[in-house]
Amino acid sequence: MRDFAAELEQRREAGLYRIRRHMSGPHQPMLTADGDPVLAFCSNDYLGLASHPELVDAATSGLVEHGLGGASSHLICGHHSEHHRLEDRLAAFTRRSGALFFSTGYMANVGVITAIAGKGDTIFSDALNHASIIDGCRLSGAQVNIYPHADTATLAEQLAATDGHKVVVTDGVFSMDGDIAPLRELASLCRQHDALLIVDDAHGFGCVGPQGRGAVLDAGLSEEDVPLVVGTLGKAFGTSGAFVAGPPMLLDYLVQKARSYIYTTAMPPALATASCRSVDLVEHDEHRRGHLARLVNRFRSEAATMGYDLMPSATPIQPIMIGDPHEAMRLSTALEKRGILVTAIRPPTVPKGESRLRVTFSAAHTEDQLDQLLDALRESAPRAVTDRALANV
Ligand code: PMP
Repeated sequence: MRDFAAELEQRREAGLYRIRRHMSGPHQPMLTADGDPVLAFCSNDYLGLASHPELVDAATSGLVEHGLGGASSHLICGHHSEHHRLEDRLAAFTRRSGALFFSTGYMANVGVITAIAGKGDTIFSDALNHASIIDGCRLSGAQVNIYPHADTATLAEQLAATDGHKVVVTDGVFSMDGDIAPLRELASLCRQHDALLIVDDAHGFGCVGPQGRGAVLDAGLSEEDVPLVVGTLGKAFGTSGAFVAGPPMLLDYLVQKARSYIYTTAMPPALATASCRSVDLVEHDEHRRGHLARLVNRFRSEAATMGYDLMPSATPIQPIMIGDPHEAMRLSTALEKRGILVTAIRPPTVPKGESRLRVTFSAAHTEDQLDQLLDALRESAPRAVTDRALANV
């Protein structure tokens, strides 16, 4: 038998061992981690909706009305009218002609990519795409060409050198760096080379674009330019589940062929009830996005002055780049001693040498809570960071 214990030990020694914390407390961002109170700056609850009373009420009345379990897959007898209502609501929100409700974003990406591309086709995938896209590409059986992050010049060369069906897939907002894909250039290349463009905007919906309608609309692109967009409901929408939005013919194709849609139990209808309410809140609550943008701007300016190395991101994802995984763990632990929870992200989630603290902001954070984060960062700054600050003066 393979020596699994030795592999775990090697992971520990390399600073790459993953742990699960026991979290409790319903109210992001104030939680307890293994029993200790913490102020979290690492969730994806960007608009602070995860424990919003209106969503809890909607879910509760949905439960009373429709029961709990999904009971069956969508194609047997699990496709509830509440799922359908949510799909219509999501289509209207994304300004697309239709939407298909998946159980998770991971399953949406795996399902879409494996349905759309197969043996003999070629997928072009950004080097920093999310793991669910990578897994979809691997499972599809298609030839996979990974282009350097956001490098449209290299992608253009790869597309020109390839025959057959072509699919380009990218995160909209990149999950670990927080930057936005060059969507207009990608759409134009896809038009030129007759490739199908899929954008996973899991982190953009709710945060980016007019009324939070996402990075694709913000770039002025239509369903013709980007036939399929993927979104998750587990982040800014504060619930759970995911969707793919696009033309009915392609969605029908997914219903026929996306295995992660077909072979799984439908989500509880009450979740769809709550998600419909969430789409209303996301669409109309401009105040939350404004507050979030102010927090992000203040963090960027003050953390940079302290000497921290930030990425060029204008979204709520604000990684502090560290490099070495042990160092990243040390900073995360130092912050936690001061009551601030920011998990360290290490390889293989990010490339080697790019370990980081993935700081994320939520409209639920107050200015005072941002002060607490900044104070903790000031007190915990590693030597290299304080040296950089002095050199900047
Ligand atoms: N796409 C991206 C870009 C993500 O960051 C994530 C979640 N981290 C997913 C898809 C998966 O979404 P879900 O959590 O709904 O499975």
